[in-house]
Amino acid sequence: MKRVILIVVCGLMVISTGLCGQLPKVVASASIFEDMAAHLGKELIETASVVPIGGDPHVYEPTPSDAVLVANADLILVNGLTFEGWINELAENSGTNGRLVVITEGIKPIASEQYKGATDPHAWMDAQNGIIYAQNISRALQETDPDNKEKYKQYLSDYIDQLKELDRYIQQEISSIPEQQRVLITSHDAFAYYGQRYGIKLSAIMGISTDAEAQTSDIIRVTETIKKTGVPSIFIESTINPKLVQQIAKDNNVKIGGELFADSIGDEESEGHGYIEMLRHNTDVIVGALARNELSSTKLDQDDGSSNLLLYSILGLCMIGSLVYLVFKFR
Ligand SMILES: [Zn+2]
Repeated sequence: MKRVILIVVCGLMVISTGLCGQLPKVVASASIFEDMAAHLGKELIETASVVPIGGDPHVYEPTPSDAVLVANADLILVNGLTFEGWINELAENSGTNGRLVVITEGIKPIASEQYKGATDPHAWMDAQNGIIYAQNISRALQETDPDNKEKYKQYLSDYIDQLKELDRYIQQEISSIPEQQRVLITSHDAFAYYGQRYGIKLSAIMGISTDAEAQTSDIIRVTETIKKTGVPSIFIESTINPKLVQQIAKDNNVKIGGELFADSIGDEESEGHGYIEMLRHNTDVIVGALARNELSSTKLDQDDGSSNLLLYSILGLCMIGSLVYLVFKFR
């Protein structure tokens, strides 16, 4: 009997250490920031994301289990810039003692074209801004767990090296697209920071949030951009229903260039399973679809072919005509 009690007590102790843990609990609003934190804290922290991979943080509705998650957090990482409007209420309702940290502090925000006074939240799409995110997250980790400060500093330095390399890669790849073909058409306006940093023009069906439905005027505007620029491809996004983009592509005889990750990292099977991976994947997909202007060139070839055929036919008819004329004349 004594042995059974001992086993039960040991079991409970193991479970409780597992549950309570000694590691700081870091909860991010969205999967992109959880991934950054995981690289910056590695084995020293436990991480979780409120919005699951593939979820849309703009319109997310927190569940009771999210409140439990946030209640137990030591650190809550949020983007701010009106990205996750539900987070303050969730934190308040959960009664958490965890510290809420805005990780875009120090980033120069792009103003919204649609909403006066509002800012575009998608600052992470610029890998240089990613460095500022990393510095803010690392500082918060160091303050939460000062005993491991030196390790966090080392992880930050390693991660910044990777982000600098990523920034160079994107710049080099995007510059391989002929300048007039650098036009990116997507579901929602998530690529302004990317476009500003890497030199690509943008057009989107929806605005910087996904909470309002697309209007007929949006579809007309995007259709005009497709016609005016002659882009061969437009793009769908992993967190947004692709139907509208597919319809616009079909109506305008352009291709779907591929799936981009904007507001969430990709799942484990995807190429975008991580912040660095998603920016790299997006770049590869964009370059692959825009670097060669297939549609326009085949169209040109066909036009050339048919006009040449007409020219040869006329020439041929003229020659036969003259021959017949000569035969009749000198008979
Ligand atoms: Zn977005």
